[in-house]
Amino acid sequence: MNDDNPLRRLPAVSRVLEEAVLAELRQSYGTAAVTDAVRQVLGERRQRLQAGDSLEAAELTPAHLAQQARLRLQRQRLPSVRPVINATGIVLHTNLGRAPLSEAAAQAAYEAARSYVNLEVDLSSGKRSHRQEHVRQALCRLSGAEAATVVNNCAAATILVLRAVAGGGKEVLISRGQLIEIGGSFRIPDIMAVSGATLREVGTTNITRLSDYEKAVGPQTAAVMRIHTSNYRIRGFTRTVALEELVAWAHRRQLTVIDDIGSGLAVDLSPWGLTGEPVISASIRAGADLVLCSGDKLLGGPQAGLILGRQEWIARIARDPFFRAVRPDKMTLAALAVTLQAYTDPNQALNQIPVLRLLTTPVEHLHARCQSFREHLHGRSFPAAVEVLAQTAYAGGGSLPEIAVPTYVLQIRPHQGSEQDWAYRLRTGEPPVMVRLTQGCLWLDLRTVFPFQEEALLQRLCEVAQSFVESAASP
Ligand SMILES: *Cc1c(COP(=O)(O)O)cnc(C)c1O
Repeated sequence: MNDDNPLRRLPAVSRVLEEAVLAELRQSYGTAAVTDAVRQVLGERRQRLQAGDSLEAAELTPAHLAQQARLRLQRQRLPSVRPVINATGIVLHTNLGRAPLSEAAAQAAYEAARSYVNLEVDLSSGKRSHRQEHVRQALCRLSGAEAATVVNNCAAATILVLRAVAGGGKEVLISRGQLIEIGGSFRIPDIMAVSGATLREVGTTNITRLSDYEKAVGPQTAAVMRIHTSNYRIRGFTRTVALEELVAWAHRRQLTVIDDIGSGLAVDLSPWGLTGEPVISASIRAGADLVLCSGDKLLGGPQAGLILGRQEWIARIARDPFFRAVRPDKMTLAALAVTLQAYTDPNQALNQIPVLRLLTTPVEHLHARCQSFREHLHGRSFPAAVEVLAQTAYAGGGSLPEIAVPTYVLQIRPHQGSEQDWAYRLRTGEPPVMVRLTQGCLWLDLRTVFPFQEEALLQRLCEVAQSFVESAASP
């Protein structure tokens, strides 16, 4: 016997296939798919054993492996993109799809998806119309701009605006403190380059004065661009030029002012202590010629890039062949139109738009919900210490980096298994649960968990806890 070889601990594929649970599944999934699933499960275990992982005996029994194969088969039938419980506390999580839509907006997208729609037809005249008409007026009302248009995302909006205003090598002045990277591959100098504009850096990283802009102006200068530093802040000895001041100066020199505000906040959140994010209408009021923002950040709508501002620029952008390449689809427009409708009354927006509701949930409510969770987990011989802690949530997604939203988290300190093991099992079950990890603990922040998800979250926690109790109890 060679007991040194850990791979000998794995049962044969044929042995796992004898398990009753898989015999049933062969009827609905077919023998080939079931065998394949068993091979995959065994393959994963083999890799882990080869990597020196000390797997529990209970994790290598034919019955357990058959169950894993069953789960794998069932999961393969799930849609690839599917709902996840976000217990990270990050309200705008780019990896989790940013803003969840309001019920009404989601419904509109669903209805549009499964039917023909009046996307480009004027129903009263029967004539062809433009898809942008579904959102144009609402965008102008929301922002106070004279014209507006929508493309697939803010990155596309930025490229289009730069092409229109400064394409063909004209210069755009940008403060060195605003040459940001938003993540992915959105870096301002690269965006400039692909749009054919020439970047002219102004000032220093921490200090940019009006006189710096003045010094940089030349015959080729077409515009000045302000970019909201969405995802970082420079603190200490800093100075930037206020938008009103920049506008007054730029317009005296016939320069166009572009304001990339990023997050698209459309209501004042300062009563909730959430300050520091530019409000769309304030930029228009300050005189910016073109204002850009995302649809799926603080606006709380579908992925989109909004371009708001002067009629002649918007018309010029719409004539760019590249505009057609980044036009929004019917589902996006349907959801965006309904999202914008909610903003006709700011209170309604705060109630209906999930992002705004999550950010403004009173911290006492979160405390009560966490306590109730803790009580439910208590007394179930839960294999972890559970506590409720005051903590901080972040809007995330490149927004409100400085603004700490007070919250409460459910802290789970496992008695069995590591916090990584717990996080893995929470992530890979159904529905998947995403949490925060800290030294030896998991943090579940209910600020980003919808009340309708609480029961499922509780169930998932109990399921994962049970799996650790079982593996500890077996020989
Ligand atoms: C997020 C962000 C962008 C990119 O927007 P997308 O909609 O993700 O393309 C651009 N500029 C700023 C300032 C941002 O915050």
